Formats: sequence, C-alpha cells, structure tokens
Amino acid sequence: MSNSECVFCRIGARKLHAMVVHEDDDLIAFRDINPQAPIHVLIIPKKHYPSLYDAHREDPGILGKLNAAALQIAEKERVASRGFRLVFNHGDEAGQTVHHVHLHLLGGRALRWPPG
Ligand code: AMP
Ligand code: ZN
Repeated sequence: MSNSECVFCRIGARKLHAMVVHEDDDLIAFRDINPQAPIHVLIIPKKHYPSLYDAHREDPGILGKLNAAALQIAEKERVASRGFRLVFNHGDEAGQTVHHVHLHLLGGRALRWPPG
C-alpha cells in the first residue's frame, strides 16, 4: 500500500526528489532534509506503515531489513568505526512527525546521551 498524501511514500515511489543513498525492492534510504548531524540518513520501507506496530504486525522482517541497510550505509558513509546512532521515533513524546516508519542513522560527530 502506498499513500499519495504521505511525503515518504512519494519519495519511495520517486515522485518527490530526495538525495537517495541506497535502494532495493523493499526499502529506500535518503539524506534528511534537516540534518541533525553531518551524516543523517533516513531508511524507510517502500510500503506505508504508519507506525512500528503496523510494520511489526504486517511484515516483522522489514524492521530487520531497515537495520541491515543502516549498517551497510554506515560503512559506506565511513562512520561504522567512529560510531553512529540508529533511532526510531515513535509517537508524540518521541517527537515523531512523519507517520511512515523511518529509521534515522546519525553520525559524523560526537552524539550526546541521553538524547533531549
Ligand atoms: P521524525 O521526527 O522521527 O518523524 O523524523 C522525520 C524526519 O523527516 C525529520 O528529521 C525531517 O527533517 C525529515 N524529513 C521530512 N520531510 C523530508 C523530505 N522531504 N526529505 C528528507 N527528509 C525529510
Ligand atoms: Zn507513507
């Protein structure tokens, strides 16, 4: 399923431009438009899952595929040995703004902990 109102569905369908760094049949990865670190890539399923629970229920394997792609991209972006962070924001208190599951890959600078 794809949702024409959803910005990430439009990127996945290549109807909206993004700086794509990786793609396969199931997922696409592109640079965040408002980067919070020198490397800030979003890895998304091409199918529209509004939340992690929807993705987990409908295709639990997709979450592992997003993770595997993130590990590969971290190597390609040369942050694997320096360190990086993978984040899913889920829901209001985590600050989720786009309701299409996405995994953030952040790296290229020292990241504070705990996050704000
Ligand atoms: P979240 O707060 O976890 O929902 O993250 C959504 C992310 O999507 C934010 O970091 C935005 O900067 C990013 N974003 C929104 N629209 C676009 C877009 N058209 N291209 C790239 N990144 C986007
Ligand atoms: Zn979508």
